Amino acid sequence: MDYNPNMATRKAAFIYSSEMEKYRYPPEHPFNTIRAQKTRQILNSMGLLCGHGRSEVAPIPAERVILKKFHSARYLHALKNASEGRWDSEAFYMGIGTSDCPVFEGLYEYAVLACGATLVGAKLILAGEADAAFNPSGGYHHAGPEKASGFCYINDVALACIVLAEAGKKVLCLDVDVHHGDGVAYAFYDRSDVMTISFHQDPRTLFPGTGFADEIGTGAGKGYCVNVPLPIGTYDRAYMEAFEAIAPPLISAYKPDVIVFELGADALAEDPLANLCVTNNIYADIIEHLLSLDKPILMTGGGGYDVDNTARAWAMGWCVLAGADCGGLRDKTLAVTSQQRQVVLPAIETIKKNVFSIHGL
Ligand SMILES: [Zn+2]
Repeated sequence: MDYNPNMATRKAAFIYSSEMEKYRYPPEHPFNTIRAQKTRQILNSMGLLCGHGRSEVAPIPAERVILKKFHSARYLHALKNASEGRWDSEAFYMGIGTSDCPVFEGLYEYAVLACGATLVGAKLILAGEADAAFNPSGGYHHAGPEKASGFCYINDVALACIVLAEAGKKVLCLDVDVHHGDGVAYAFYDRSDVMTISFHQDPRTLFPGTGFADEIGTGAGKGYCVNVPLPIGTYDRAYMEAFEAIAPPLISAYKPDVIVFELGADALAEDPLANLCVTNNIYADIIEHLLSLDKPILMTGGGGYDVDNTARAWAMGWCVLAGADCGGLRDKTLAVTSQQRQVVLPAIETIKKNVFSIHGL
């Protein structure tokens, strides 16, 4: 059975086309674009992609006028030039052509199409044509206005938040990628119409080295940027304890109109680039919580460097989001070592002290 009658009316869009399959980072690079294709293959083979309110929608490249709402013209120009083989030191200073953000064939077309996929999701939500949308080729939360960073070139997450906010929506951006969602957090650091909440590994131990609990926004945005650093070894129950303590109260107080959810899957145990130890069961729990708020959800992929674990997590995320039975896609629970049980979450009290009072909590 793949059908939950309680969710019969939810319209969910999976944003994908085979066009996405044309592009690859260099073979030695950890970011593998095939994850989106694998996610789709899993869902398609299980018959969970379409039907029962679910549909597949093709992305369209993001328009330059939209890209300029976040990125500078100079940066977009350099990115396009580099992609066409005209790369110079100015581009390098903007992070283009580094080992993290290499230049590869079709880079510009890929980045613009991947971003366009997230924006198609935002558009469907604004038009009331979808209650939920998922772009597994999205989640480039590290890119800055004039900076390629952390495998990211065009910040689709920030742009989607901008587009939704410009349409008058109060936006919650929740980011559970294991790395701090710095590009998004700093884009809205002084704004209260986009609240960002990022759960990530302690920045003292992981790229990008930001996202401390006392980074809470500034000016009108004070209290609308929330960072939850998690210690190495954080496992399911500890993670959910932190989530339950922080996210539901703040989200309820904030009352968003729409939720943007960055589902990087690199917090999973055995991810080769990070050191948290969770299973994909926490993603199901978190999505269930978001669904309980009864607001539209725009979900993106993100990090995740074990290709199979990531594709399975995203396939499961789609099932929960779209109201399908995720069956065998859930991870088995992991044994917790006594050392892991020692893990303490020192950030929670700091966040409560600094942020909760701003929201009357
Ligand atoms: Zn990441």
